[in-house]
Amino acid sequence: MALKPGVVCGEDYVELVNACKDGGYALAAVNCVGTNSVNAVMEAAAKNNSDVIIQFSNGGTQFFAGQGMEDGFQAKVLGAVSAAQHVHLLAEHYGICAVLHTDHANRKLVPWVDALVDHSEEYFKKHGKALYSSHMLDLSEEDIDDNLNECARMLERMAKLDMSLEIELGITGGEEDGVGHDIEEGADSSHLYTQPEDVLKAYDLLTPIGHFSVAASFGNVHGVYKPGNVQLRPEILKNSQALVQETHSTADKPLNLVFHGGSGSEKDKIAAAISYGVFKMNIDTDTQFAFANGVGKYVDEHHKAFKYQIDPDDGTPYKKFYDPRKWLRQGELSFVSRLDEAFEDLGSAGRSLAK
Ligand SMILES: [Zn+2]
Repeated sequence: MALKPGVVCGEDYVELVNACKDGGYALAAVNCVGTNSVNAVMEAAAKNNSDVIIQFSNGGTQFFAGQGMEDGFQAKVLGAVSAAQHVHLLAEHYGICAVLHTDHANRKLVPWVDALVDHSEEYFKKHGKALYSSHMLDLSEEDIDDNLNECARMLERMAKLDMSLEIELGITGGEEDGVGHDIEEGADSSHLYTQPEDVLKAYDLLTPIGHFSVAASFGNVHGVYKPGNVQLRPEILKNSQALVQETHSTADKPLNLVFHGGSGSEKDKIAAAISYGVFKMNIDTDTQFAFANGVGKYVDEHHKAFKYQIDPDDGTPYKKFYDPRKWLRQGELSFVSRLDEAFEDLGSAGRSLAK
């Protein structure tokens, strides 16, 4: 099985998802905020011969356009378009397959996703593929029927462009860019676990419309917190697959499952989740820290260059050290190292379909 390097959409995307599930590995979905992080993801993917998912939260796309842009909504839309164009241009030259995706969108952000689909419609007319491979709608706070009906409406638009939709059932704890839920100490945590019956309901409604994936909650939490508060229960994923498979006599692992809040998770729980059909694991917190850590070490080593252009005591010029390429590169390299580890954990290293 071989795919053309570059952004994968439509049938190629489906092929990639199926290759992951059949091959027992998953793709890292890495949140990016600018060309430094996007390029680091492509560099890491090429270095590890791994395919990868480049994703943006609404805040990430706003930052991509520029935090100083006055109209914040416009920035979120245009930043997403700009970021996608950057990846469409460069991914094929890195020689890997890249999936382009947007992260959590709650009810307030539905207009953002609709605007991005408008842009994909235009792009599709010119290039025969959408700007994004997939988008996510996260209406998990709402009643299950309201959640699924809105997802069905969006997927109807997207399926015409061969795009895929990620939905959320149950609630991922913690917060991602203002979308999310606080975990209360000692509170009833049953809402953190997806009910397999809800997954079956989604399968029944969405399968006739188009390709979709499910972020199911099995105790996963955004961010890295002290352990012990929430128990990861990946068998919920297994039970959801089994219910759909039995009800509809499908092949093995009919659902495409997504693991949110992968940062800081125990390695054996990651492996179990993948064995139950998880093809995508989101990573943000750990790569954010890696970038900051790389820059921080550099600043510590060359602290004078961040205060003086010329050393006040001996007159040494510091231009070579405060050049942003020097310290931003240290952030990128550290980001790449963290992804080396992620690709290893997820089993995607050495398995790119790009030829
Ligand atoms: Zn998430």
